[in-house]
Amino acid sequence: MELFNFYRKNRSRQPLLGASVSRQGVRQLSKLLTLAFAWVVALGGCAPFENNWIDQKVAAIEAYQTNLGAGASAHDLVSNVAFKSLVVEVSSVPGFAPTQEALNRLQTFLNSSLNKPRGIRWMMGTELPPGTARGYTVQDLKNLENQFRRYKPQKDELTVHLLFLDQHSSDDTETQKILGQAFGNLSIAVFENSLRSATVKDTQSQTPVWISEVTVTEHEFGHLLGLVGLPDAQGKVSPEASALVRSSEDILHPAHCMNPNCLMYHAADTSAALSRAAGILPQLDEACLNYLKQLGSSDAR
Ligand SMILES: [Zn+2]
Ligand SMILES: [Zn+2]
Repeated sequence: MELFNFYRKNRSRQPLLGASVSRQGVRQLSKLLTLAFAWVVALGGCAPFENNWIDQKVAAIEAYQTNLGAGASAHDLVSNVAFKSLVVEVSSVPGFAPTQEALNRLQTFLNSSLNKPRGIRWMMGTELPPGTARGYTVQDLKNLENQFRRYKPQKDELTVHLLFLDQHSSDDTETQKILGQAFGNLSIAVFENSLRSATVKDTQSQTPVWISEVTVTEHEFGHLLGLVGLPDAQGKVSPEASALVRSSEDILHPAHCMNPNCLMYHAADTSAALSRAAGILPQLDEACLNYLKQLGSSDAR
């Protein structure tokens, strides 16, 4: 529920592009350019002038925002329309890095879920400082992100930042530990220490740690991809996806799939997933795969 509240609070309707140049300045520039081009068209009889041409050019020189809500970059992540490649930056507190097996599996998952013709590259990020015993709040995660993220989206390359942490989430309860959290449109925290403890405790050591790492990280990636029912960059879900959301979203656990065998079932955020899965790597079910397929097509937005 905490996670859901976080998503809802962070659902963004604002456009993705826009930060480094003031809007007012941009608009004034646009008007001037529009007048100049209209004059040229009137004199020279060029092809009809398209009003959004300048907006596109102006947008291209602005920075891509990385502080939006989970799901806001869903279309950009899944499709190849604006971004042809992806960098996945992995930062961790020393001693809490993910296993190589987990990273290999994640690569396979991303290759099959995202349309990135120029490939997906993995980069080691900065060493993160140890957390404190009070645990990480969402603001703590955002502070780490602001301070230590090295790779920002540029040109046609998108970037995602994964943080593997030594302390627990401050939203943990007596009975439930949060193992992962998508806390931005391109950022995921994995509470690696909680994950390792829960893996041993909840499955009596029958589950290798990499299975827990993959389950949790893929699930959080699913939230970045708009599963289940989070908006795309324009703050909307395609009509087909909307229909899917209505049919498969778990109304008791919004932004999650109702199918208990699906990767996007709500329990995968928490330690509850591990005892349930007990060594099995959950997959996306047909409904969630269809959503990604629709989102990945160029006309989905
Ligand atoms: Zn979730
Ligand atoms: Zn599903």
